[in-house]
Amino acid sequence: MPKIEKRKFRAETQKVLNILTHSLYTNREIFLRELLSNAADALEKLRFTQSGGGEVREAGLPLEIRVSFDKIAGVLQISDTGMGMSESELVDNLGTIARSGSERFLADIRAEAAGGEDAAPGKEAGTEEAGTEEAAGEADPGRAAAEAGPEQEGDAGEGASGGIGGQIIGHFGIGFYSVFMVADSVEVVSLPARGDAGPCLWTSDGVSGFSVRRLEGEEAAGYRRGTTVRAKIKKDASEFLEKYHLESVIRKHSNFLPFPIFLEDERLNSTPALWREPRSGVSREQYDEFYKYLTYDEKPPLDVLHISVDAPVQFNALVFIPDSEQDYFAMQQERWGLDLYARRVLIERANKDLVPNYLSFLKGVVDTEDLPLNISRESLQENLVLRKISRTLVKHVFNHLEKMAETESGRYESFWKLHGKYFKFAFNDYVNKDRAAALMRFSSSAAEGGCIGLDCYIGRAKPGQKEIWHVSASTPEAARVNPHLERFLRKGVEVLYLLEPVDEFALEGLGKYKDFSFKSVEHADGAALDAFPDVEGAAPAPVALSEEEKAVSDSLLARMRTILGDKVKEIRVSDRLAGSPAVLVSPEGFSSSMEKLVRAMQKTDEAPAKILEVNPEHPVLRAMARICAKDPDSALLADLTLNLFDNVRLLDGSLDDPQLMADRGLRLLDRALSWYTDLSGI
Ligand code: ADP
Ligand code: MG
Repeated sequence: MPKIEKRKFRAETQKVLNILTHSLYTNREIFLRELLSNAADALEKLRFTQSGGGEVREAGLPLEIRVSFDKIAGVLQISDTGMGMSESELVDNLGTIARSGSERFLADIRAEAAGGEDAAPGKEAGTEEAGTEEAAGEADPGRAAAEAGPEQEGDAGEGASGGIGGQIIGHFGIGFYSVFMVADSVEVVSLPARGDAGPCLWTSDGVSGFSVRRLEGEEAAGYRRGTTVRAKIKKDASEFLEKYHLESVIRKHSNFLPFPIFLEDERLNSTPALWREPRSGVSREQYDEFYKYLTYDEKPPLDVLHISVDAPVQFNALVFIPDSEQDYFAMQQERWGLDLYARRVLIERANKDLVPNYLSFLKGVVDTEDLPLNISRESLQENLVLRKISRTLVKHVFNHLEKMAETESGRYESFWKLHGKYFKFAFNDYVNKDRAAALMRFSSSAAEGGCIGLDCYIGRAKPGQKEIWHVSASTPEAARVNPHLERFLRKGVEVLYLLEPVDEFALEGLGKYKDFSFKSVEHADGAALDAFPDVEGAAPAPVALSEEEKAVSDSLLARMRTILGDKVKEIRVSDRLAGSPAVLVSPEGFSSSMEKLVRAMQKTDEAPAKILEVNPEHPVLRAMARICAKDPDSALLADLTLNLFDNVRLLDGSLDDPQLMADRGLRLLDRALSWYTDLSGI
């Protein structure tokens, strides 16, 4: 008797299977793409092993994929002559959910079930043991899908959503298990390319678990090197037993696989190495199609660079700028990079030495003649050829972006919106930072909702202006009401709005641009702008205080100092305000947003005390001074002072106890109303 191994699926696997079998997908055809891409991966591995001089079984077998079907038996079969899997590999690789696609799929589907709000990426990354009972939790996507199932069945898969997770599966590819969307049961027979063990059979109904056993005697006869997947097709998926349908799906998703695919002995795909074709011979449609094949992205790319270089190093490359945002920080750290080929042999997927981090949004392939085929993946990192390729590639990308910025401003703006937040990290690239700076875009006080580059800023600077002024805020609206901005607006001096945390680091890292230094409006000293005339229509300067008023105002400041205590470092008269009553100023060095970031990194909530600058000419301060002269201990004066301070903290983004402000505000409202009603007799 052959040894039979029966095993349960791990909990994560079970969840994915639940979703797959209980929902109806409009795009379940992508299971075919998944199986074919696994076959191609196995063939790539074989080619890689062979090119490194490794021994493989049946070395003369052609590297190919064959698809066939048996309508009567209801079976679809996909076989390849790739690396194959041993008994233990069958257990490990097909018994566990693939780390690449599926965990992320689960996290996303969880988010979709919860209304798309919290994605909690990869939280349960495969830590559970096989068969645990966890599968019934609240956020369990399997259950959500099972509950949603019957409804969807009613509309025959034509619903807008395509079933829960339909979009997600299509986009990321969740691997081998997607076959259970169309199959009641699956058999995999594999004969590994290395070692002399015979073929093994893996079977599963995709519900409870799987079993694995060795094939012996007659059963084992007739198997070549590689893997054969046999899917017993579900009744409602019989289109996958139709030749024309299979053909159109394979052409749609797998046309660029670098190995021949035969459907019932007819060859389907033809031009795999598109990047080696002459540029003039490739149409935009072909590029788009290749991009979709490469990324699973539904949208065609924003742009493509087809690069062919002979010196100082030989390589061909197809590099795409996606037209959708890349989620690099959160989840795609694994995926960024370009696929590296040496003479059409895949050396490494998502190689991260070909482009710097700040270009991580690029997708594509690089193929070189100058790398030995048998290079080990480890020694790639120090490789000089790779470094040369990278340098040349980056230069090409810069040329391309500069040209786009100059001649296609609309397209460039789209590029910036999608990928600018990564590109800004180019401030780290010592060699290219000046070119990068010129490509950066910022919102500004004069940009009217759009974005401007530093050259544009400089072009509009006042004669004699030496600084590029900036202010940090979460939105342009918040920037606009920042009291520090007031006199810049009055003088018509443009200010960049830094709306993302990285912006300030980027400017700091750049140091300066051409002859201009970067400076926060918070650090503008009074005299810096005096030389520039007021713009026409600017608010008139307020009426100066009389001697008598000045004395009263001084005692108000002293009183406020007592009321605020060590909440402030100092109170002083401002020379930067006109329309605002007060503003907070950092003692030195950091701007307030930088300081917040540092505080967050040091995990301390304690804000260092700041300087409160007041504008005694403002009506609010004038009135407070009069109250103070009459009754310095007035409770009203204390409330007014504290609320004014909170108001300023609110604008500064450093108010951390808003409920106190609300409470006090209500008290002030109450008083104002009772005076009003008393006076007017309402
Ligand atoms: P992924 O391809 O993202 O790793 P899959 O679920 O598609 O995830 O496949 C899981 C693993 O099973 C693969 O990584 C591979 O090791 C193995 N595998 C699947 N199909 C084949 C095949 N046709 N030949 C050899 N190994 C395979
Ligand atoms: Mg796969």
